[in-house]
Amino acid sequence: MTTATKETLGFQAEVKQLLHLMIHSLYSNKEIFLRELISNASDACDKLRFEALNNAALYGDDSELKIRVAFDKEARTITISDNGIGLSREEAIAHLGTIAKSGTKEFFTALTGDQAKDAHLIGQFGVGFYSSFIIADRVTVVSRRAGLPADQAVCWESGGEGDFSVEMVEKAGRGTDVILHLREGEDEFLNAWRLKSIIRKYSDHITLPILMAGEKWDEEKKEQVPSGEDETVNQASALWARSKSDITDEQYKEFYKHVGHDFEDPLTWVHAKVEGKQEYTQLLYIPARAPFDLWDRNARHGVKLYVKRVFIMDDAEKLMPLYLRFVRGVVDSADLPLNVSREILQESKDIEAIRNGCSRKVLSMLEALADSDEAEEKEKYAKFWGEFGKVLKEGVGEDFANKEKIAGLLRFASTHGDTPEETVSLKDYIGRMKEGQEKIYYVTAESFKAAQNSPHLEIFRKKGIEVLLLSDRVDEWVVGNLTEFDGKPLQSVAKGGLDLGKLEDEAEKQEAEKAADEYKELIEKVKTSLGERVKDVRVTHRLTDSPSCLVTEDFDVSGNLARILKAAGQKAPEVKPILEINPSHPAVQRLKYEETRFDDWAALLFEQAELAEGGQLEDPAGFVKRINDLMLALSGK
Ligand code: ADP
Ligand code: MG
Repeated sequence: MTTATKETLGFQAEVKQLLHLMIHSLYSNKEIFLRELISNASDACDKLRFEALNNAALYGDDSELKIRVAFDKEARTITISDNGIGLSREEAIAHLGTIAKSGTKEFFTALTGDQAKDAHLIGQFGVGFYSSFIIADRVTVVSRRAGLPADQAVCWESGGEGDFSVEMVEKAGRGTDVILHLREGEDEFLNAWRLKSIIRKYSDHITLPILMAGEKWDEEKKEQVPSGEDETVNQASALWARSKSDITDEQYKEFYKHVGHDFEDPLTWVHAKVEGKQEYTQLLYIPARAPFDLWDRNARHGVKLYVKRVFIMDDAEKLMPLYLRFVRGVVDSADLPLNVSREILQESKDIEAIRNGCSRKVLSMLEALADSDEAEEKEKYAKFWGEFGKVLKEGVGEDFANKEKIAGLLRFASTHGDTPEETVSLKDYIGRMKEGQEKIYYVTAESFKAAQNSPHLEIFRKKGIEVLLLSDRVDEWVVGNLTEFDGKPLQSVAKGGLDLGKLEDEAEKQEAEKAADEYKELIEKVKTSLGERVKDVRVTHRLTDSPSCLVTEDFDVSGNLARILKAAGQKAPEVKPILEINPSHPAVQRLKYEETRFDDWAALLFEQAELAEGGQLEDPAGFVKRINDLMLALSGK
């Protein structure tokens, strides 16, 4: 084989950048290298166990999976070894020379160059294998892929600068040795006590035994000497299988960092054993921060499936609905067969039951936060909402069974607040409805500002009626699927005729009827003038300041949704708007007596209504010309 010769390859540009950043920004947190390498060793053993389900021969005569940490004071090295799946030459090049994570590009564009800020970002991104270079100036990886012969092992080596080398070597056993050649000044890590305490701190939850050479006190030499026996440093029992009272918050958090591939503490978690028809344990976490690939619906999901403590698979997407794709953690089933495959999972009724159970659990956990009387918990919910609210909104249309529950968790900006962050729940909205108000009013627009300034709100402002301001794209999907909450219908203020029901008094109604009568002729003229551009023209009293606005029928696609669809390159159904004009506006009143420029006036009433709701004009140049003509006419030229 020609690959036996040593070959030097360059790192992917991103790896170089990441290495540089890591060495300089994670310096105060160096000990995490050990957590990352042990986490990888554990993952490698999980992968072997999974592949061996269909191919038991992969174990050879070595079926006890374990991790070993050793150090050599003279050589100044630390070695982390595992007998997991190992790496072939190609895999070593691919996995230890590039970053394959989704969101990598976004991550690098988010970097600011400011070390403190970037150190924070790097935490979100996850540091992984490359964290070795924080304390090592040379890293050697010797690995043999399970199933390959002893002379097909690979030796990967790098100084963490621009390149790495690979070479075929011999290795007696399966799995991987990662050898760290420590930088000058990092000798504190060449100490059994120090390494053990790091392992206990970060990796106690790892299910495999993490072994170190035992030591004993030598009275004559007055120092620790090898005892000749191995010592298991961690508890090596599945964290989720222990009873809650035996697990500290610190241990829960460290476990999260391992399963969630995250650097930061989680926001909250739930740990429960479910008994009954289905028996399973769930340990589910909400991250504190949205990952870079949250919007990539194909990105990996975060819940791992175990069967009776045996790892089955990562990111089992069937365990969580899409709208809860940010949840991380573990589900351990007592009933599923060990050789369950992805295909079986797709169909499995058991999995469906587990998914429903997990969804409900997560939603209840969120409810508890949202409804808590404690400020700290409430704060957590607000944080959650800021990070994941838009994703949760998808659930209104996706999870029919839990629709009410999800609707209860939604938060919306409203006319009662000044910023998008001042939000209200539907329950609180109903709680502060005006006397006689029967509907939950909302407006959808492209941005918070556009919603806030929508002309459709004028009458509601005047009467002090709260209107929800919806400006996330997914909001159209929410209101399309949520027609009522707690018996109160949701009503767009830009759809249908304005029916304020009991909120309107007799005098106002009469005045409106009178205006409609009085303007009948004008309305007909405007309609004829605008022709095909409108479905109808009518007098309105939803406006107080603006002369005109556009509305659609209750059952039609809203103007905002039509614009979103168009921007996304999708075909929006052709919906003609209804032009409503404000009889109390001087411009409208004047129009009654306009002869020569009537068509221009009518067109402007229509066009400004389009602009005011964030629409685009069909003929912008025509609009500008009309404005200029009128300006000149006014100045008497
Ligand atoms: P992550 O663990 O999030 O995938 P890492 O940077 O920690 O990212 O590791 C990169 C990849 O290198 C892993 O996904 C895996 O394919 C490979 N790898 C690292 N350590 C080992 C190991 N001990 N055994 C086998 N493969 C490994
Ligand atoms: Mg890793």
